[in-house]
Amino acid sequence: IRYADIAPWYDHVERFVGISGQAEGLPQLPDGQFLKPMALNCGEQVVRDAVARAWPGERLVTIGRCAVLTEAHNGRAACHYCGPCHRGCITRSYFSSVNATLPAAQATGRLTLRPYSVVHSITYDRKTGRATGVRVIDGQTKHAIEFKARIVFLCASTIESARILLLSGIANSSGQVGKNLMDHIMGGGIDAPVDRDTIGNRPNGIYVPRFRNIGKGKSPFLRGYGFQGGAGRSDWGRGAGQTGFGADFKKSLRKPGPWGFGLYGFGEMLPKEENFVEIDKNKVDAWGIPVA
Ligand SMILES: Cc1cc2nc3c(=O)[nH]c(=O)nc-3n(C[C@H](O)[C@H](O)[C@H](O)COP(=O)(O)OP(=O)(O)OC[C@H]3O[C@@H](n4cnc5c(N)ncnc54)[C@H](O)[C@@H]3O)c2cc1C
Ligand code: SF4
Repeated sequence: IRYADIAPWYDHVERFVGISGQAEGLPQLPDGQFLKPMALNCGEQVVRDAVARAWPGERLVTIGRCAVLTEAHNGRAACHYCGPCHRGCITRSYFSSVNATLPAAQATGRLTLRPYSVVHSITYDRKTGRATGVRVIDGQTKHAIEFKARIVFLCASTIESARILLLSGIANSSGQVGKNLMDHIMGGGIDAPVDRDTIGNRPNGIYVPRFRNIGKGKSPFLRGYGFQGGAGRSDWGRGAGQTGFGADFKKSLRKPGPWGFGLYGFGEMLPKEENFVEIDKNKVDAWGIPVA
């Protein structure tokens, strides 16, 4: 399967989800179906211009591409930069199943939500060679139940999906299920002071797309890495590293602190069979299902 084969499906999903970002026309960071980008703040604009001057046409700083709306989209409101996204976004600007896919499914009138359903495995008809449904453990009673289905979508995340396939004993004629486990490696960063001001809490950062091993210069390693980061002012949390107590100390922490710029490298891992998950035959989870 090539990127060209899956690109239309990425587009389909992105049009539904609503992704904000800046199209840059880079082969190493393909553009998507973007809503208008969020703005770089003043500190990030300084760094963007400096990078463009130092490495013209080679490196660039762009705003992060993220599943947060910058325009009203599919009945959901644009982000108003209030900040506490991790508590669940009340305007449904931040994409999640609760905010977007479940309401859309409910609107079809054909959704049945079955809570407390812990999937054990996928059932399979050896004669037809097709999945027939799921075997589920009820999270409260711990009773096993089976549901029949014409189509089963397995999207229980990387390790859980592999675990369910391994427990089902299907789709593994290659023996590769659970193998070639990959993550990104992260580390190495800088923090630099910048002295300007900004308003609002943008739920996004900046991105420097990969520039290593592209074009002319070759590094003594495979592939490359990108950078994530952003500029911002420190908040009350900086008090944890300071001495002081009492009303004046607390009052001083209410004021925004100095600016900083953070930049952190994210590298690719290569697929290797030795990085794998497998079923532990001697250990089960709280629902009696063998763990991976
Ligand atoms: C702390 C953190 C920060 C991240 N930040 C970013 C980021 O900034 N940008 C980015 O692009 N990515 C980020 N990621 C990665 C990104 O969130 C994941 O790659 C993505 O959510 C995976 O989607 P998924 O649908 O495959 O799985 P998930 O979103 O994990 O969904 C799997 C679902 O299956 C359910 N499930 C699992 N097993 C069973 C079972 N046996 N029975 C029933 N249900 C089951 C789970 O409860 C879950 O709801 C981050 C991840 C983490 C953990
Ligand atoms: S900042 Fe976060 S919580 Fe606030 S509107 Fe935007 S996405 Fe929602």
